[in-house]
Amino acid sequence: KKIVVAIDGWSSCGKSTLAKQMAKELGYIYVDSGAMYRAITLYFLRNHVDWNEKKAVKKALKDIELDFRLNEQNENVEIYLNDENVEYLVRDLIVAEKVSEVAAIRSVREFAVAQQQKLGKKKGIVMDGRDIGTVVFPKAELKIFMTADNAVRVERRFRELVEKNPNITIEEVAENIQMRDYIDSNREVSPLRRAEDAVVIDNTKLTQEEQLKKALKLAKN
Ligand code: C5P
Repeated sequence: KKIVVAIDGWSSCGKSTLAKQMAKELGYIYVDSGAMYRAITLYFLRNHVDWNEKKAVKKALKDIELDFRLNEQNENVEIYLNDENVEYLVRDLIVAEKVSEVAAIRSVREFAVAQQQKLGKKKGIVMDGRDIGTVVFPKAELKIFMTADNAVRVERRFRELVEKNPNITIEEVAENIQMRDYIDSNREVSPLRRAEDAVVIDNTKLTQEEQLKKALKLAKN
């Protein structure tokens, strides 16, 4: 029987890596909910939308269409913003610096959550984010909450980002992760929390295979 897997946790804990691998093994679809908030942020930045203005946000959201499409290799799904592939662009630090502010806005969350829930109507889905087990799919059959030591997370994200942008510093990355965790867990709407029934995976000392094995075992129970 196909299920819904909800993976939440702190920034840069390896949620999407695990989620992608799980989806592949189980033959499920993978949805990166963070990419949706990132794409909305990219749109706001490009179009100079003042997100402190409720009306401006609501108006802008009407012009945003998000979807996920398989890449050419048929391996990964990528995020599209109004028919443009922005999978690469949304990973930029410029977006990461503002995304938590944007994701804290009620109307933005309502917009994203409605689409996420629609995607989940079809069972056989792994979705990662911050509020998937608490808000988006409170009835998910499997909920995982991921953590990892701060130093490990910073190092991992730095290695990813420095490939694209050699000028980036580890301090900038550390600061961004800390800031996002702070805003994400202290916002009024759907703050980042571990769902009571979520299984914690601390991947500080686990290899990718070990995490996957653990998670797959949980999915099969
Ligand atoms: O997962 P990722 O790091 O790409 O998410 C980027 C940001 O999007 C998070 O820091 C958070 O502010 C927001 N987010 C959220 N709820 C989700 C997924 C992401 O608020 N379900």
